[in-house]
Amino acid sequence: MSGPAPVDIAVVGAGLAGLQCARELVGAGLDVVVLEAAEAVGGRVRSEHVDGYTVDRGFQLLNPSYPAVRRWVDTAALGLQPLPAGVAARLDRGTVRVADPRREPGLLPATLRGALRLLRGAPAAARWGRPLLTRDHRGLVRRAAATRADRSLRDALDDHGVRGDLRRVLDAFLAGVVLDDTGGTSDHFALLLTRAFLDGTPSLPRGGMQALPDQLARGLGARLRLGRAALALRHDDVGATVETDDGPVRARVVVVATSGPAASCLVGDAALPTTRTRGVVTHWWAVPPGQVSPGPGLLHVDARSRPTGPLVNTAVVSAAAPSYAPAGRHLVQASALLGEDRAAPDEATMRRHAAELLGAGGTGWETVARHEVRDALPAQPAPLAHRQEQVLGPSLVVCGDHRDTASLQGALVSGHRAASAARRLVGAR
Ligand SMILES: Cc1cc2nc3c(=O)[nH]c(=O)nc-3n(C[C@H](O)[C@H](O)[C@H](O)COP(=O)(O)OP(=O)(O)OC[C@H]3O[C@@H](n4cnc5c(N)ncnc54)[C@H](O)[C@@H]3O)c2cc1C
Repeated sequence: MSGPAPVDIAVVGAGLAGLQCARELVGAGLDVVVLEAAEAVGGRVRSEHVDGYTVDRGFQLLNPSYPAVRRWVDTAALGLQPLPAGVAARLDRGTVRVADPRREPGLLPATLRGALRLLRGAPAAARWGRPLLTRDHRGLVRRAAATRADRSLRDALDDHGVRGDLRRVLDAFLAGVVLDDTGGTSDHFALLLTRAFLDGTPSLPRGGMQALPDQLARGLGARLRLGRAALALRHDDVGATVETDDGPVRARVVVVATSGPAASCLVGDAALPTTRTRGVVTHWWAVPPGQVSPGPGLLHVDARSRPTGPLVNTAVVSAAAPSYAPAGRHLVQASALLGEDRAAPDEATMRRHAAELLGAGGTGWETVARHEVRDALPAQPAPLAHRQEQVLGPSLVVCGDHRDTASLQGALVSGHRAASAARRLVGAR
């Protein structure tokens, strides 16, 4: 390789995977450069501050029980604000509230009433969830695989006889988590996520979700080059060259830590076939006091046999995360799925549905922000293919949630695995 001396490792992308990878490599004493196309770190985990409100680019939650979060994130420094560990579901006849009695004792009377109404589906749901009944969630997928082959969540719930109101509650809740309401997502992935919900309470950092990548980026200093997109990539047995607007960056190893579709563009569809993605639109409103009853900030879903709108969930976010709104004001989010054949619903449609689910009037709501995220999550069909191969050549590694599970956990683990692989490749020269 001619020209300026190459760095050890160039990381392309400063989302959670790229940041975790880079900080481990820096910690190991390697010479690292991180190229990020955007003007800030975070990738799909970004926040905005608008007129005293904090909104994330698409409603999302940090589950402190994710093993990767426990291991690599200083959650105490994030000032986590937990959402209630439960859900409010609109049924054909009324609304039920069900919450984990260990964590939400205040909701116990409502939970008991809700549980009575959902009782008929409980034995079947318990059969479906049997792999969850273990103290240690590690190896959950392996254990689940030993008892039943992975298939679509729809088939798994059907085969276990989960029907009626409880089925619709599960379907509605999980659709908002995996951003898929067709039931085509992997049953084992749904089990993994359900276990994470049982183990920890999804939360929002005081400063918004962006505080998470900001924390991971601390310590990278001048190694982090923002507003520097990788335009093209060449790699061979001795190293890689990343073309940028500012000239080439040479490295002994390059780690492509972008989303799946962007990685396929950079390294070529033949080396990395394009992953299918799921999309979501989140609308955020400022709601004056008296226009919505905030309650504890439960996630509301529409579990009726004929939902009256497009939302997968809505919540008075500021009731659980007061830092997201100025004192005395409320911040409401509502999310709906996007897809190739599904246009984003307009503001009025989303507001009507959110107001109905929250039992509010829907007047006086003012838009704070709206985020349409087409490539929010890689699709995760059965059989679940996590821990996918990341080394694509002697000087090329890829990472990101598309190589693991579609989650913050998956992105962090994938970044960790990429750091180990890149160290091995550099060490092998
Ligand atoms: C709306 C929404 C809700 C979500 N909800 C949850 C949730 O509740 N819980 C959960 O666990 N997960 C959730 N997720 C998923 C989670 O956010 C992602 O899995 C994770 O952030 C992916 O991180 P990543 O590093 O793999 O990729 P990304 O975050 O996509 O990072 C890739 C980075 O690469 C950069 N890049 C791309 N191309 C180039 C280029 N050519 N040159 C340089 N840089 C480039 C991008 O700008 C970006 O910064 C949600 C995601 C969204 C969008």
